[in-house]
Amino acid sequence: MSGWWCSCILTLTCLSAVVESNSAQVDSAPPSKIAIVGAGIGGTATAHFLRQHFGPEVRIDVYEKATVGGRLATVTVNHQEYESGGSIIHSLNLHMQDFVKQLGLKYRKSVAGKTAVFNGEEFILEETDWYLLDLFRLWWRYGFSFIRLQMWVEEVMEKFMRIYKYQAHGYAFSSVEELLQSLGGSAFINMTRRSVSESLLELGVSQRFIDEVVAGVMRVNYGQSVSIPAFVGAVSLAGAQANLWAVEGGNKLVCSGLLNAAKANLIKAKVTTISPQAAGDAFQYRLSYSPVDEKGTEEGAAAAAELYDIVVVATPLQVNGTGLSFEGFDPPLPEIGGSYHHTVASIVHGYLNCSYFGFADPKLFPFASVLTTDTPGLFFNSAASICPVNISAAFRRKQPQEAAVWKVFSQQPLDKKELKKLFKSYYSVQATDWQAYPQYGTAPGLPPLLLHDGLYYLNGVEWAASAMEMSAMAAKNIALLAYHRWNRQLEMIDQKDLVHKIKTEL
Ligand SMILES: Cc1cc2nc3c(=O)[nH]c(=O)nc-3n(C[C@H](O)[C@H](O)[C@H](O)COP(=O)(O)OP(=O)(O)OC[C@H]3O[C@@H](n4cnc5c(N)ncnc54)[C@H](O)[C@@H]3O)c2cc1C
Repeated sequence: MSGWWCSCILTLTCLSAVVESNSAQVDSAPPSKIAIVGAGIGGTATAHFLRQHFGPEVRIDVYEKATVGGRLATVTVNHQEYESGGSIIHSLNLHMQDFVKQLGLKYRKSVAGKTAVFNGEEFILEETDWYLLDLFRLWWRYGFSFIRLQMWVEEVMEKFMRIYKYQAHGYAFSSVEELLQSLGGSAFINMTRRSVSESLLELGVSQRFIDEVVAGVMRVNYGQSVSIPAFVGAVSLAGAQANLWAVEGGNKLVCSGLLNAAKANLIKAKVTTISPQAAGDAFQYRLSYSPVDEKGTEEGAAAAAELYDIVVVATPLQVNGTGLSFEGFDPPLPEIGGSYHHTVASIVHGYLNCSYFGFADPKLFPFASVLTTDTPGLFFNSAASICPVNISAAFRRKQPQEAAVWKVFSQQPLDKKELKKLFKSYYSVQATDWQAYPQYGTAPGLPPLLLHDGLYYLNGVEWAASAMEMSAMAAKNIALLAYHRWNRQLEMIDQKDLVHKIKTEL
């Protein structure tokens, strides 16, 4: 696995030259203005890649109605910042790694801590200090389920990593289905249609392992059950492996860094409508927007409009409050169905109530992270003692009897009674009610990436799986897609049999 990873990094670095030289061969004039709606990791990475492909002359405007970073955000407790949204990054997320390197940011390694699974009454699985003992216990309780699961996740990841080679060679995909088909054939597409539990059962993973371990991982990462599709399930399980990291100072620094590096203009405004306007045999798009102030409230300033050659929508269209509509399209754009799942992230500074978990003496409570099973009536999905975004060399986790900062994920805001159950006492609670990720199973299929001639939709990819790297990967794909469509290089889009083609190209 590590060999594959190294070769992917090498390929990514060496072959970006191939794509740049491809770009240089094109004669057609670049577009003059491009707009991106949303300055989360998806929108800012799109600005970065569009700049790479279209060159320095193009004006790139990024509209943001709230805060740069979007679902990458921090809250402050006792003068220290903590991640309240997207927090962990897998070691094989090569776009995120590349951004951190290019922007001169630093990695923040996760600090070790033990995990246990709670079923509402007791811990049913507890990590110890001894790796071999943990393996033996897993085998004793679940047979070879965990090895089967591990092999499955690695196989999915190995195929997923083909995307880095395809993109380094400049290939783009016009839909999520084409992209998945190219990475893992029809098996990958089927993985977006059947549940993770069904797929794992078929592999011989036991129902008990699915209920006690896999469910806990789905609940902490996506707030949903083991009925979520297998593809996002595999991404979720990859996020439970070792070798996770985050960005020192906060993951959102990647977004502001990419915006600066791309020399994009940040426009603090809410885009309200997008309408097409015929321009010869092509289209331009009129964006109407209302400026917002620092707090994200719409200022008294008059609404304005601007015309663009290319527009990328980098925010989920199913989220309430986006306030974006498409007008004047004939035929009308397809309805984007489905809804987003609410996850409440409560950052609590206080003393964990260890006796709720069956530990009368808090000094003996050894866990930094508690996962939960899908038990009716259980009011939280997970609770974890978290580290600030800046970790000094002297940093150590708090002892269980000390006040610490905990992140609790739940479906609903925690009420006073629930907080009292989980915490003996607390100094502060800061809750963010996220429209966090798709409510899988509520959309009829995978949304389109291409909405109209020069109008693209990045967040369609979240319906395969929602994660920072997925948005970054989709950003690169959309930049390539827009570039090739603009220059009519259609042979670079939706090519079949890329695994073989790329081998023979090298
Ligand atoms: C609680 C939580 C935990 C998570 N944990 C992880 C994790 O550990 N690892 C991981 O990889 N991923 C995680 N994720 C998922 C990850 O955060 C998202 O997939 C990713 O940040 C999405 O980025 P985006 O740019 O596509 O969308 P967003 O970050 O949502 O960005 C969209 C932006 O568009 C703006 N916008 C919306 N409408 C308009 C408009 N009309 N005009 C102008 N601007 C507009 C919004 O204000 C927003 O800033 C988590 C998410 C949540 C909520």
